[in-house]
Amino acid sequence: MAKIVCVLYDDPVNGYPKSYARDDIPKITKYPDGQTTPTPQAIDFVPGHLLGSVSGELGLRKYLESNGHTLVVTSDKDGANSRLDQELPDAEIVISQPFWPAYMTAERIAKAPKLKMIVTAGIGSDHTDLQAAMDRGITVAEVTYCNSNSVAEHVVMQMLSLVRNYIPSYNWVIKGGWNIADCVERSYDIEGMHVGTVAAGRIGLRVLRLLKPFDVHLHYMDRYKLPDAVEKELNLTHHTSLESLTKACDVVTLNCPLHPETEHMINDKTLKNFKRGAYLVNTARGKLCDRDAIVRALESGQLAGYAGDVWFPQPAPQDHPWRKMPHHGMTPHISGTSLSAQARYAAGTREILECYFDKKPIRNEYLIVQGGKLAGVGAHSYSAGNATSGSEEAAKFKR
Ligand code: NAD
Repeated sequence: MAKIVCVLYDDPVNGYPKSYARDDIPKITKYPDGQTTPTPQAIDFVPGHLLGSVSGELGLRKYLESNGHTLVVTSDKDGANSRLDQELPDAEIVISQPFWPAYMTAERIAKAPKLKMIVTAGIGSDHTDLQAAMDRGITVAEVTYCNSNSVAEHVVMQMLSLVRNYIPSYNWVIKGGWNIADCVERSYDIEGMHVGTVAAGRIGLRVLRLLKPFDVHLHYMDRYKLPDAVEKELNLTHHTSLESLTKACDVVTLNCPLHPETEHMINDKTLKNFKRGAYLVNTARGKLCDRDAIVRALESGQLAGYAGDVWFPQPAPQDHPWRKMPHHGMTPHISGTSLSAQARYAAGTREILECYFDKKPIRNEYLIVQGGKLAGVGAHSYSAGNATSGSEEAAKFKR
């Protein structure tokens, strides 16, 4: 029988919800490319309820305990003596969400001799040292596509909020003002602008499709070229370098995974190639950007705005400079954990666990690492290596 350690974010400060704003969520059975949404044998939760916090337990307790397994759920994940660290010596599976990541560094993996699988309840497994997982033969799996469309909605929302200067204008209302000139001195229409995505995978392509009706000029770069028919349908300009894309665009969004090839791809040097006054939206991973270079670019006006929901490390320390930098529209890491998305990734996590315990293959598209090498989406979208360095700083949030 296995011990499963599940690291989840804390419940709401006023307690686990007793009721919800809406009675149901839409039923979605397929993603845009035809892939089916998760297909576990059963679920023990109500779709639309809060599942990603400690009391929600991703709806897993009944299933795991009725099969004789032990489930430990905690939010205590950072610092040398965290509950996560205490539970590692006999853990067989560790589950966490990128919003509140259990940083599975090589040191932690070494503390867990029985560890066989690390599951990301969501998308993006950079919080695991993938090299260490490969070296130990540990499987790393995630719920591919579960929240890609959720994130794309957040990207479009944040692009519009930056370009139209929404947050400062909202704040004038709260302050009791009617300061129209103050609101609009930084407000533009996105219509006619050049908008580009770094990566056109599930999220990046969805962003391009959502933006098409805004009558913007669409650009992308990726390791892979999109089919000619898609380029034609969306009237896309394809770029083969970051420099070429950023020189052409008024708004840039990052939608690639964090891996050794993409870490700090946005830095003082690459920011020089942006148009002055460009907007940057990053809901992919905080460490794609050099933290302090972003602050400098906003202060100098090289960037007119920066928004996103991803930080490094997470949770972001109280003194993280992105909390106070000018012209930002940051949220905590929430875009992929709407109640709608939670229902999909809780079901997907259950599907992965059922496959593991029933000794059936996990869907290839859910795999990041298997059999000592990158596999599935991991082989398509990642490069080998480790991107967890510096994650111990997350412990600073507690102090
Ligand atoms: P995906 O695998 O469908 O797409 C990733 C794309 O990135 C692929 O097309 C790949 O070719 C491209 N890519 C990889 N390395 C590249 C490079 N060096 N240069 C250019 N392109 C490169 O994944 P997805 O569903 O679109 O998700 C992408 C990432 O978004 C995830 O890995 C994760 O980090 C992030 N994400 C964030 C949230 C959130 O809540 N904020 C939720 C889901 C995913």
